[in-house]
Amino acid sequence: MTSKPMTSKPKTSKPTIWRATVLTLFPEMFPGPLGVSLAGKALAAGLWALEARDIRASATDRHRSVDDTPAGGGPGMVLRADVLAAAINAADVASDRPTDRPRLLMSPRGRPLTQSRVAELAAGPGRGRPLTQSRVAELAAGPGPLIVCGRFEGVDQRVIEGRGLEEVSIGDYVLSGGEIAALALIDACIRLLPGVMGKPESGADESFSEGLLEYPQYTRPQEFEGRPIPDILLSGDHARVAAWRRTQAEALTKARRPDLWVIKTNQKRPKNTTEG
Ligand code: SAH
Repeated sequence: MTSKPMTSKPKTSKPTIWRATVLTLFPEMFPGPLGVSLAGKALAAGLWALEARDIRASATDRHRSVDDTPAGGGPGMVLRADVLAAAINAADVASDRPTDRPRLLMSPRGRPLTQSRVAELAAGPGRGRPLTQSRVAELAAGPGPLIVCGRFEGVDQRVIEGRGLEEVSIGDYVLSGGEIAALALIDACIRLLPGVMGKPESGADESFSEGLLEYPQYTRPQEFEGRPIPDILLSGDHARVAAWRRTQAEALTKARRPDLWVIKTNQKRPKNTTEG
C-alpha cells in the first residue's frame, strides 16, 4: 500500500462532475439506453458519470436476501430497511459529497417529476433557482442525485424516513421497478448539463420551459403526402414565425393540458426580461 501525505485535502479540491448514483437490484440495467446517442456520447466524454450499485451487495444473511413478507400481511414482498439502509450508507462512504446531494426514491406515491424539478436536480446544490444562461457554468459542479430503485411491493417506510428519501414519481401508473423511472429522470437531467446538447438554446423553447407545450415542428420535404409545411415558416419573417409558434403553443396547451393552462394564465405577471 502507498502512504498518502496527511496534509492534503483531495476531497475538497477535486472538481466534481455531475454523477448519478443508482441503488438497484439490477445494476446491469445501467447505463442501458443512456449508453447511446446524446447521453452515451456525453458519458464517454466524461461530462457526467453513472455509478450503479447493487443493493444485494449489502445483504447480510447466507441467502443474500433483500426482501421479506409485508408486516400485517398482504401480497408480495418488501425491500428490507436494514439492507437498503446499509446500501445507502455504503454509497455515502464512496461519495465525494454525500451530504449535499439529493436522495431520491423512485416511487408511484411520490411527487410527480416536473421539468422544473429536473432542472433543479441537474443544477445540484443551491436548488430552487430557475435555470438561466448565467447559471450554466455552475452546473458542472453539481454532485447529482443518489437514486434508490424500489422493487416488489416497494421499500420499508422506516428507511424512507431514516435516510430522508424524497419520493419521486414519473407518472400515475405502476412500473415493476424503479430502474426505468430512474433512467427517465437521469436522461431528463443530463440533457440540461453544460456541453451535452448541441446548442444551449435548443432547450430554451421546449415543452414546459415557459409553462407551455411546444409548437409543432416541420422539416424537409416541403410537401409530404399532400401536406405542405405552413407557409409562414418558409416566409423568413422571424417575428411572424415567433408569433405563429406562440399561438400554436398556447392553443395546444389549452386543448391538451388545461391544468398547465390554468397555471399559465394565473401567472400573468410583468414580462420576464431576465431570461431568454
Ligand atoms: N406497491 C407499490 C408499487 C410498487 S412497484 C404501490 O402500490 O405504490 C415497485 C417499484 O417500482 C416501486 O418501489 C418504485 O421504485 C417503482 N415504481 C413503480 N411505479 C413508479 C412510478 N410511477 N414512478 C416511479 N417509480 C415507480
